[in-house]
Amino acid sequence: MAVTIELIWQDFLKIMHEEAGSRVVETWFKAVKFVRWDVLERTVYLEAPNLFVKQWISSHYLELCQKHLSRLLSEEKVSVVFVDSTVSTPAIPPIPASSGPIVLMQLGENAHKGGVELYQAARPITSSENRVKAVTARKKADGFNGALMEQYRFDTFVVGPSNALAFSAAQATVESRGKLYNPLFIYGGSGLGKTHLLHAIGNAVREQSRHRIVLYQSADRFVHDFVLAIRQNKVHEFEARYKDIDMLLVDDVQFISKKEQTQEAFFRIFNAMHQTGRQIIFTSDSMPCDIVGLAERVRSRLAGGLVADIQMPTLETKVAILLKKAEANNYVLEDEIAYCIASCECSSVRELEGMLIRVMAYASLTKQPLTEGVVRKVLTHTSEVKKEGAGLPSIARFVGKYFNYTVQELRSSKRNKDLSQARHVAMYLMKRLTDASLREIGIFFERKDHTTVLSALEKIEKHQRRDRLFASELRKIENDLRSGNL
Ligand code: ADP
Ligand code: MG
Repeated sequence: MAVTIELIWQDFLKIMHEEAGSRVVETWFKAVKFVRWDVLERTVYLEAPNLFVKQWISSHYLELCQKHLSRLLSEEKVSVVFVDSTVSTPAIPPIPASSGPIVLMQLGENAHKGGVELYQAARPITSSENRVKAVTARKKADGFNGALMEQYRFDTFVVGPSNALAFSAAQATVESRGKLYNPLFIYGGSGLGKTHLLHAIGNAVREQSRHRIVLYQSADRFVHDFVLAIRQNKVHEFEARYKDIDMLLVDDVQFISKKEQTQEAFFRIFNAMHQTGRQIIFTSDSMPCDIVGLAERVRSRLAGGLVADIQMPTLETKVAILLKKAEANNYVLEDEIAYCIASCECSSVRELEGMLIRVMAYASLTKQPLTEGVVRKVLTHTSEVKKEGAGLPSIARFVGKYFNYTVQELRSSKRNKDLSQARHVAMYLMKRLTDASLREIGIFFERKDHTTVLSALEKIEKHQRRDRLFASELRKIENDLRSGNL
């Protein structure tokens, strides 16, 4: 990259930092290269590390890129074009001589339940073992975990702001083979999709190359096997198993905490893999710095690549997850019902799925169509459903007063920015604080259908994420309404 271009790119990254946040820059732009600036064509050529990053930037940040690059290059409007990078081409590098056929091994929690037999079937293949054994092992491992592998794919994972970084990094590891983010460390609360992502990686690698050996292992299992190896005086053999692994996926790595000797072995295995550019991916319930009982050097190894979090999904993402899960069960779920379930309180995607299953089961057992009434009935015993509270008119009055508008104005079709925002806030609070359906709220505002309300709710959700001040103001209004300060 020429010096001036380099400087322009650095300036651009700084601006993006301010405008879109460091997370966005780290996730999407860090690995992008400014390849060329064509003055005659007024075109900037960028190179993305993989197709996914390219597509994501094109669909989410292209306008911002154009805007700022135009300004920095003193042009009225530049075009931004992505060129193919070496990594994004699907060509597969030559197979290392040591690699056998791909073996997707499942030594995780489920293997635990499956007992010793499975573990032996799925034991990593050393280079001295022959192809037949490897294929047999693969078949057995596949047979055991087929259901999980079938469900947990990249295309069944719903991407939203809460998990985009982890998702894209996971995808990138499949394409870039230990070159981009190594190790990749994904952390987040229980039931937020970590194991799903690891399996999705396994699936993607399997589709991409039949020659790479991927080992999925829960840290729990790692500890268990290591302790066994010590007892049987087979530590050397234990470590040798990892020699031919091309990619290691360690689920719930926090379980190696406080186990000093295991951490030693783990450290050696990690170093051997890392030095030879083989990809390692960890998941954990917390960040490396928050895992207690971890040797400092292990901690710094874990955090030495990309650390990506998964948070509880936003409302929109929850709705999308519910729709996807329902579809996977061949169930047609209406948007409004999905929204109703998604707005119930829950602390993980696993719980959200559980709620969906409960309402679907109830509707099917009682042979009723799945309505908001059914959702409420099934989910009421926890504090999952909207509280009874202020009615629509009183919320409209309160919000109107707060923003200096009359209820008539809120209900009108006038659309100046402040009025629209007040109207959206009112709709949002009505949904949060009452049992009214989207349609009912729509009718209150004399709107033709519920999609206006849905889009208002989405806007408010987004606005809250972007603007903390707005979020806290909104919370204050909500608290006032809840405590009856009407
Ligand atoms: P974790 O390993 O983080 O505890 P899991 O990967 O086991 O969580 O996920 C729990 C459930 O939630 C799984 O059924 C998984 O498919 C689902 N899930 C989590 N996040 C998503 C998502 N973004 N899209 C679709 N399903 C998800
Ligand atoms: Mg898990």
